[in-house]
Amino acid sequence: MLHPATDAVASLADARFEQAITRLSEYLAIPAISCDPDHFDDVRRLAARVRDDLAALGMNGCRVLELDGALPIVVAEWHGRPGAPTVLIYGHLDLQPVKGERWDTPPHVATRVGDRLYARGAADDMGGWMSHVAALQAWFDEAGGPPCNVKLIIEGEEEIGSPNLTRFMDTYPEVFEADVMVLTDCENPSVDVPGLTVSLRGLMEVEITCAALTADGHSGLWGNMVPDVSTALAKLIARLVDDNGRPTFGLIDVSEDWRASAAAIDPEVIRDGAHIMDGLRSLPEAGRSAAEWLWRQPAITVVATTYPTLDRKKNALRQAASALLSVRLAPEHTQQGMLDEITALVTKDPPGGVQVTVTPKGWSGEGWLYTPRGAAFEAADRAYQRAWGSPLRRVGVGGSIPFVAIFGQRYANLPLILNGVMDPRTTAHGPNESLHLGVFRKAIAANVYLLAELAALPREA
Ligand SMILES: [Zn+2]
Repeated sequence: MLHPATDAVASLADARFEQAITRLSEYLAIPAISCDPDHFDDVRRLAARVRDDLAALGMNGCRVLELDGALPIVVAEWHGRPGAPTVLIYGHLDLQPVKGERWDTPPHVATRVGDRLYARGAADDMGGWMSHVAALQAWFDEAGGPPCNVKLIIEGEEEIGSPNLTRFMDTYPEVFEADVMVLTDCENPSVDVPGLTVSLRGLMEVEITCAALTADGHSGLWGNMVPDVSTALAKLIARLVDDNGRPTFGLIDVSEDWRASAAAIDPEVIRDGAHIMDGLRSLPEAGRSAAEWLWRQPAITVVATTYPTLDRKKNALRQAASALLSVRLAPEHTQQGMLDEITALVTKDPPGGVQVTVTPKGWSGEGWLYTPRGAAFEAADRAYQRAWGSPLRRVGVGGSIPFVAIFGQRYANLPLILNGVMDPRTTAHGPNESLHLGVFRKAIAANVYLLAELAALPREA
C-alpha cells in the first residue's frame, strides 16, 4: 500500500511549482562549466550551495566529496525509514560551455518564454535532479520525510565524461550502496510521453591513412600512372557504407520484443532536431525503424580529413591522405571487433595499391544494453501513469553517456531507472537549451509517486 500522505504530498508539490522554478533559476545563474578552469570555482560554489539547501530541506549527511584533481560530488542522505528500501538518485550540476553559441536569451539567466524555461543546464541536468528535490521537499513538509530511504548524488564532471566517477565509487563505496538507482539525465520521446532509457551506443574513432608518394608530384606529368591518395581514400571509405551512408557490416539482429516495446520516433522530430534542409528528407527506413537505426545499429561519420582543401589547392598528387571516422557502435559491439572488420575491409586490395593504415585514436565510449524487468519497473510505470497518463516508453540513446555505462556495469544487478526531463526540443549542449515546464511539473509529480511506489515494494533479503 502506498504511504497515506502520497496524494497530499503530490498536491503540495504541485502548489509549490513556481517556487521550484525560482530555485532552479537561482542555480542556473551560476555558470558551473566543468570543461573550463575559469569556471571551476563556479562548480564548487554551486556544489556548496546545493549541499546547504539539501541540509535545510531535512536531508542528513549533506557533504561535498572531494578527490585530488576532480571536481566535487554533492551527497545527501536520509535514512529515516528503517526496513524500507534505499533509493539512490543521481544527477549532475555541471554545464556544457556556451562559448561561440548564439542564444536568443542570456544563457545563464533563466528566461521563461511560453511553456519553456531557457538557460544552459535547464534540462541537462539541473531540471532533472531538481524535479527530485522538489518532490523530496514536499515529502519532508507534508509527511516528515520521504516514504523510503534516499540518497542524492549530484556529480560535477558529467559534461566532461565523468572521468573520476569510478574513483569516487572506489573511494566512497558506501555512498553508492542502494536497492534501486534512479539516474536522471535523459530524454523523453515527447512532452506527453515519458521515456525510460535502456540502451546507449558505444563510440570509437578510427583514422584511415592512404600513402603512396614520398613527395607531392605533378598531376599532369604522373596522373594515370601514380595513384591519387585522396581518390583511393574516398573509395575505401565508400566500401564501409551503402548508398545511404549506412554501414555495410556489423548490423545487429534486433529482437522482436525490442521492436515491439521501443518508442516510435516522429519523422518531424528528426527533421527539426537534425536541422534537415527544406526539400530534403531523413534517410529511408529500409526495413528497420528510425529508432532501431538510431539506437541499436552502428553508424559511420567522417569527422575530420587531411584532404586538400579549397583554399590550399595545387595541381599535385599528394603524398598521403587521412580521414578520421567516428564509429557509433551497436550496444552489443566490442571496439576491437568493429576495428577488425573495418581493417579487413579497407586493407584488402586497396585501390592503386596504396599503403593503408588503420589506427584507433581519439574518443571512445562503452555501449550499454539493459532489459528493465521486475517489480521496480512496474512500480515506476505506475508512478508515471499517474503523473503523465502514460507508462514509461522504452527508448535508447544514439550517443554514449559515460556515467550510465559506469553505473550500468558496476550495478548491473540493481534496478536502474534512467530517465530525465529533456524532450526533442531541448537542444541540450546547443544554443537556446530549454526545459518544457509541463514536463518539469509532471516529472515532480512522477517522482513523488515513484518514491511512494518504491517504498511499497517488498524488500528482497
Ligand atoms: Zn547531462
